[in-house]
Amino acid sequence: MAFFICITTAKSIHLGMHNKLLQAAYTPEDFREKGHQLIDELANHLEKQLYDEKAKTLDWHFPEDEYAFWKQFLVAGDKNELFSQLLQRITNVHNPKCIGHQVTPTIPITALTAMMSGMLNNGMAVYEMGMAPTAIERIVTDILCKKLGYTTNSGGFLTSGGTLANLTALLAARKAKASSDVWVNGHKKALGVMVCEEAHYCIARAAKIMGLGEKGVIKIPSTEAFKMNTASLEAHLNAATANNIEVFAIIGSAPSTATGIYDDLETIAAFSKKHNLWFHVDGAHGGAAIFSQKYKHTVAGIQDADSVVIDGHKMMMMPAITTALLFKDREHSHTTFSQKADYLLTQSEDEDWYNLAKRTFECTKIMMSIHWYTLFKTYGEEIFDQYVTQLYDMGAIFGDIITNEPNFELAVKPVSNIVCFRYINDNLDTTTLNKINRGIRQQLLEDGTFYIVQTTLKDKHYMRCTVMNPFTTVNHFKQLLAVINEIISAKNLIPLG
Ligand SMILES: *Cc1c(COP(=O)(O)O)cnc(C)c1O
Repeated sequence: MAFFICITTAKSIHLGMHNKLLQAAYTPEDFREKGHQLIDELANHLEKQLYDEKAKTLDWHFPEDEYAFWKQFLVAGDKNELFSQLLQRITNVHNPKCIGHQVTPTIPITALTAMMSGMLNNGMAVYEMGMAPTAIERIVTDILCKKLGYTTNSGGFLTSGGTLANLTALLAARKAKASSDVWVNGHKKALGVMVCEEAHYCIARAAKIMGLGEKGVIKIPSTEAFKMNTASLEAHLNAATANNIEVFAIIGSAPSTATGIYDDLETIAAFSKKHNLWFHVDGAHGGAAIFSQKYKHTVAGIQDADSVVIDGHKMMMMPAITTALLFKDREHSHTTFSQKADYLLTQSEDEDWYNLAKRTFECTKIMMSIHWYTLFKTYGEEIFDQYVTQLYDMGAIFGDIITNEPNFELAVKPVSNIVCFRYINDNLDTTTLNKINRGIRQQLLEDGTFYIVQTTLKDKHYMRCTVMNPFTTVNHFKQLLAVINEIISAKNLIPLG
């Protein structure tokens, strides 16, 4: 296969007077000056967000207002204020009161590797356009495979996000397990995957992109504790088979996004083995628990998965977006996007691990491997143990605090750093309570001291916290509950929003 041929003719170009703008834009001195200035601003930002108790998580603007601001700024704003305006109009993930989404406060050194990637711009589709980051990518994915408990046949790559990684894993699964080669011949038969109803929406989306349709996403109900109900697996598989659906994969969440609850990976592994299904683990959020001495039990069984996804930009403190997709048998990572015969030809010579676009969905991608390598090299894997352990500990502590509050209840006892809770009152029905909890969350957003999110579970509306910041303390939780109590009493329990 001809692959990315690019011919350049060596010709030195002198920028003439008519290209002044280009000349100016590439001035090294200008970059040096603006760069130093920006690093100072970002360091001040970091200091303020981490240590100034008065710093807000965000200064809320409604979408239309924000749009109007930036539209106006493009025409009339002072370009010297562009970066500082940006800094004022974002959600401050380094603020310990920012306990909403699963976005990590990046370790500052990885902001520098992100800048290197931006400047050097090696696209990595082929080895020649990213020698170091390509070799480094193999090293970091090998480290992750080893940590998972995989053997020497394993291997993987990095790709742009858990969503894309899950799709890629399911494509590999279909290639390996389906009775017909859909990649080459198109659909011959209805195919399906089994996944808990609590799984991240991107799994169902991936299945639909693959043409499986609604009925190809076999949703396994969750237990009261929001885990995949594995007792019903046989029945669901039998029903699908009776319905002429060929099931080729089962997906376990480690953990699921809304509640942070891990599926029972050991039981799913045994089921997949019995029925010759591909076992995929979506560990986008909590796969990093493999590094925690205290919490690695949450992912027991992960070593039996055929493929595993772990996001670097969630529980591994790296800038968005970088995700590891790891395969128990790395051969599968080479066949996903190739025709079987075509692959066999190259297999005998060299597996060509270094031309990454053959294996990833992306053609060009960012030099994401250097974040991982820099963290391993600078701090060692110990830092991931400390991070995961600290945050999961805080999840448990926050859970205990809520349990002891008469006016609040948990959706489920937390097993990770995700905590869902709601205000309760025996005199009010679920609909009213849902409105109140939604209203509290909106007030918190507009106030900006804390940032938390929300979710609906089994028809009940919950406030949802994800502790992503190792600087978040018990006092922050207590303050959050105090703010919520103020909101409740100020509104005199009239349903808000
Ligand atoms: C966040 C998340 C995803 C999506 O990953 P992105 O990197 O945001 O694309 C998938 N699955 C789970 C369980 C997640 O928590």
